[in-house]
Amino acid sequence: MSDVRGPVDGLVVPRFAGPPTFARLPRLDEVVGCDLAIVGIPFDSGTTYRPGARFGPAAIRQGSKLLRPYNPAQDFSPFNTTQVADAGDIACNPFHIDEAIAQIDTGVDALLSAVRGVLALGGDHTIALPMLRAVRRHFGPVALVHFDAHLDTWNTYFGAPYTHGTPFRRATEEGLLLDDRGVHVGIRGPLYAASDIDDDRGLGFDIVRCTEFDTVALGVIVERIRARVGDSPVYVSVDIDVLDPAYAPATGTPEAGGLSSRELLALLRGLRGLRLVSADIVEVAPAYDHAEITAIAAAHIAYELLTDMALQKL
Ligand code: MN
Ligand code: MN
Repeated sequence: MSDVRGPVDGLVVPRFAGPPTFARLPRLDEVVGCDLAIVGIPFDSGTTYRPGARFGPAAIRQGSKLLRPYNPAQDFSPFNTTQVADAGDIACNPFHIDEAIAQIDTGVDALLSAVRGVLALGGDHTIALPMLRAVRRHFGPVALVHFDAHLDTWNTYFGAPYTHGTPFRRATEEGLLLDDRGVHVGIRGPLYAASDIDDDRGLGFDIVRCTEFDTVALGVIVERIRARVGDSPVYVSVDIDVLDPAYAPATGTPEAGGLSSRELLALLRGLRGLRLVSADIVEVAPAYDHAEITAIAAAHIAYELLTDMALQKL
């Protein structure tokens, strides 16, 4: 496709200048036909500890300015043959979670009617539920690959059913996920009780605890994830707190002892060839960042996910 419009040329416009879109890509309204859309979802009213992920989309876009078009780790230029564009932000009500969830669902559903995949920049993890509702409508139930320090399958918190700690229980109840195809990766940190884990397994999830990376080779864990999802349509949800706070200080509920950026990027490259239908990267709260550490990590995570999604068309 010769009519694909890529990022602004960094040899013409310096990388610190140019448009504020993700990776300096064109806006959705600047392209004719789009394959993959990036959309910001600046919503954080579902957070339980530090707020601030509403500023995540802007921070990730700022942290993405240095991304160059060729991805040597995957030997592929994701923006050359696939039209990727930035669809801006979905406006959602910060005072009414139910209304915000409906707005996100409507916004993502409209995008999925026009493109073949969406990558959402959160926002807190609440947004995964409306993402999955829209994805279900277009692709049917999906396999979930969920990178997070936390299970996010609580039932309620302070009586609230829709929070950033509950999206995957709601998604299971609503039939948005394929049975026995879901996996959480990077789980760690203190829990309220051992029953938290048992409850989660009861919902049908597999769990790769972060401590497994101490003794099991990363490639073995990749194979376990791939075997789990098989050839199902896959939704990938990345909570930035799966990274150690050393690699991602700017997040709402940090837990020590997490993955390195290098490990997570390797895991995401290991998803190459799976049927990724959409994805999110959530919980970047830039007010707690230093030198854009977290925003840059999130931008690179998004870049690997976009590479995996672009490769699928080939
Ligand atoms: Mn988390
Ligand atoms: Mn989460």
